[in-house]
Amino acid sequence: MLYYSTRNSRKKVSVRMAVELGLATDGGLFIPEELRPLSTPFWESLHTYSYPDIVWNMMYPFFGDGLSAASFQRVVDRVCTIPIHLVAVEDRWIAELFHGPTLAFKDIGASWMAGLLGEYQQHEDQELHILVATSGDTGGAVAAAFHQVDGIRVHILYPKGKVSELQERQIAGLGGNIQSLAIDGTFDDCQTLVKKAFLDPALRQVLRMTSANSINVARWIPQSISYIESYRQCTHYPEKRSFVVPCGNLGNLSAGLFAEALGLPIGSWVASTNENDSFVQFLHHGHSESKPLVSTLAHAMDVGNPNNLDRVSILQCSTWNISPKPMRGYCISDSDIQNCIQTVYNNHGYILDPHTATAWSALDMDHKMNLHPHQTILMATAHPSKFIELMNRILGLSGNTPHAKQSGPYNHHQLLPQNYPMFKDYLLSWRQ
Ligand SMILES: *Cc1c(COP(=O)(O)O)cnc(C)c1O
Repeated sequence: MLYYSTRNSRKKVSVRMAVELGLATDGGLFIPEELRPLSTPFWESLHTYSYPDIVWNMMYPFFGDGLSAASFQRVVDRVCTIPIHLVAVEDRWIAELFHGPTLAFKDIGASWMAGLLGEYQQHEDQELHILVATSGDTGGAVAAAFHQVDGIRVHILYPKGKVSELQERQIAGLGGNIQSLAIDGTFDDCQTLVKKAFLDPALRQVLRMTSANSINVARWIPQSISYIESYRQCTHYPEKRSFVVPCGNLGNLSAGLFAEALGLPIGSWVASTNENDSFVQFLHHGHSESKPLVSTLAHAMDVGNPNNLDRVSILQCSTWNISPKPMRGYCISDSDIQNCIQTVYNNHGYILDPHTATAWSALDMDHKMNLHPHQTILMATAHPSKFIELMNRILGLSGNTPHAKQSGPYNHHQLLPQNYPMFKDYLLSWRQ
């Protein structure tokens, strides 16, 4: 399977090239050249398949090129170590996508990307360096996914003193092939250092470098697995299900549309945002005006210009001759998030994290509009214990910080000023 850029459909590259580049050289996002529904026999016997078999069938057309069957199976098995649990609460299903090492759904895509690059590296002598700038969450997911993957060294830049203690433990607690750099500056400073490094020809000559950005096809496409796996757990083909998705950069939602293009029977789509509602405006008016970003309780969704918007548009239009189902969007305020968390906990004893609470509230609003979607699955994107202080405050509880897998000492980090020549010297020290 080849991939093309959203900005130029004629220039196509191999999957390995798309993964190692991340972003197309013209600045566009990669899309697979062909997207066909999986076979009817696959859908009809879905409930008899194991989780790894589903993943294999879904992902092979997109990532199988250049890998032996044994290699591909290792990538599949790796992502399947993160289970997806479906629980019924009130009249809806909740798909818990947060049982990975950093307690958020981003672990799924990060784990696929790490497995895939690890297999590519088996036939390479030169180490591959992954550079990541993080404001907190992504760094942890990337660190956990790539830890101990042979032939790969990860350099995570985070703003010193500006990430939570749990996040710092997840980024800097592993050591080994994960280098964590506490930068004396802001997230933007971290991002600037990484961008400069990628554009530096002298570095490029001596180091193989790539990014593990969330727009990478190796992180984006595997997120579609969670839709088909949660569908399998609660129904039989060809019955339809509706999905509610908490949205930030629209990676998760566009992965859902991808699953639909593979043949997943959809009733309708409901998107939830926090007060940063540019996508809801886009759904209502076909465009959105840029507004200043506000900081909300669902902070992983604090996004002004969702960077997967082009993918959503392409998947929604008829490029692939699919007829997409209705999509509705709702903007959820911080006070709605708090009320929702309290009400669901009081009525059902179930604790929603702030991101998933936007999805619950959006579905309630959808019901109020007298829209009666098919039975609905809510995508739960983070474990509430990830935000323990906030949850305790909202619910009046006194839980403890979770004992995450990487809750070891976090003394592996190295301090660096926001100074490009010093960062470059640091990177050059890894030259082989
Ligand atoms: C990243 C994230 C989101 C938003 O997902 P997108 O793919 O960026 O739309 C929602 N919830 C949590 C917990 C996240 O970490």
